[in-house]
Amino acid sequence: MQRHDFSVFIGRFQPLHIGHEHVVREALSRTEHVIVLIGSANVARDPRNPFTYDERAAMFRKSFAYEIANNRLILEPLDDHLYSDTAWCAEVQARVKRIVLETGNSGGFPAHGLSDFSVHLAGYGKDASSYYLKLFPGWDSVQIDSQYGTFSSTDIRNQYFQRIPQVARPVLSPGVAEWLDGFAMGEEFRTLLAEREYLDAYPGQWGKGPFVTADAVVIQSGNILLVERGRLPGKGLLALPGGFVDPGERIRDAAIRELREETGISDGKGQIPPAMLASFIDDSRTRVFDAPMRSLRGRIITHAYLFRLPERAKLFQVKGGDDAAHAQWHRIGDLNASQFFEDHWSIINLMADL
Ligand code: NAD
Repeated sequence: MQRHDFSVFIGRFQPLHIGHEHVVREALSRTEHVIVLIGSANVARDPRNPFTYDERAAMFRKSFAYEIANNRLILEPLDDHLYSDTAWCAEVQARVKRIVLETGNSGGFPAHGLSDFSVHLAGYGKDASSYYLKLFPGWDSVQIDSQYGTFSSTDIRNQYFQRIPQVARPVLSPGVAEWLDGFAMGEEFRTLLAEREYLDAYPGQWGKGPFVTADAVVIQSGNILLVERGRLPGKGLLALPGGFVDPGERIRDAAIRELREETGISDGKGQIPPAMLASFIDDSRTRVFDAPMRSLRGRIITHAYLFRLPERAKLFQVKGGDDAAHAQWHRIGDLNASQFFEDHWSIINLMADL
């Protein structure tokens, strides 16, 4: 079997199972180093992404402690860029380049450049979720057949997030199964289970959509106006003020109405009237956000409006209300993706040119 220098394996590993581990072992048998990029590293926990980067790295350490200690297996977080595959590819390339140069040159001088190493993309590329294997034409692909059939992490999560959790032992390594047993005892599991039950009931209660919503991206003097969600789904996460469009209502009017209801935004003398709020909208930035997986509730297409409020030493006053726990201004530089509900951080980045 030919030996290459590096192979790269990308996935969410929610959770890591023996199919993934088989791909890693095969890649280790063909290359000196395997780089595992653990995807969706920057998203808040939800029933589709229940485990953090650190928790998924811990699962890998249960099964590959020796290979990790010997730098044959290198774990690296990888963020989602929901509305830009180009930005996502650029992050993959940059992370792989740094690891290849650091690891490949760690033996001493003379230093080699990236083109002196061969990089291969490892994967079991037979399902639709693996389309990203085609996004890196510069790298050869190492296709590895699944040894264990076509079960997936989704099946494992479906059994696990139940009142009586079933840990799918036949398709998990003992260390990972034990880790999942422990996680099921904790508070985070109960929160995710409540969220999961809420989402399972959602289509029966509200239908499958598509639904139309409106969101307000409100900026004033380097601050952004956000609400902390007071209920499921995403209780406790930060979100843009916004909500569902009423029958007979224009989408832009819904954004203004929700902004007023959820934040009570006022200039100190009283609530800002709808017409004045409308005058702050930057029409050139209005944008539709429609990633099919952006919400676990169903197909929800949102329209985001950028409100540029006048620069002031004292920000407009806000208060919590409606279904938001409370509304608050946040310095934009203090925020990061893992604090946010659904794709709201991606929306902010694109609307506010971060
Ligand atoms: P996954 O954990 O479901 O799968 C990882 C890999 O394991 C895939 O190659 C899959 O085919 C393979 N696999 C699955 N079941 C297997 C089995 N039974 N036997 C052998 N192999 C098996 O991860 P995923 O959802 O495919 O991860 C993709 C990651 O890339 C995600 O984090 C996603 O968000 C990210 N991504 C992001 C963007 C963007 O942000 N623009 C674009 C593309 C991908």
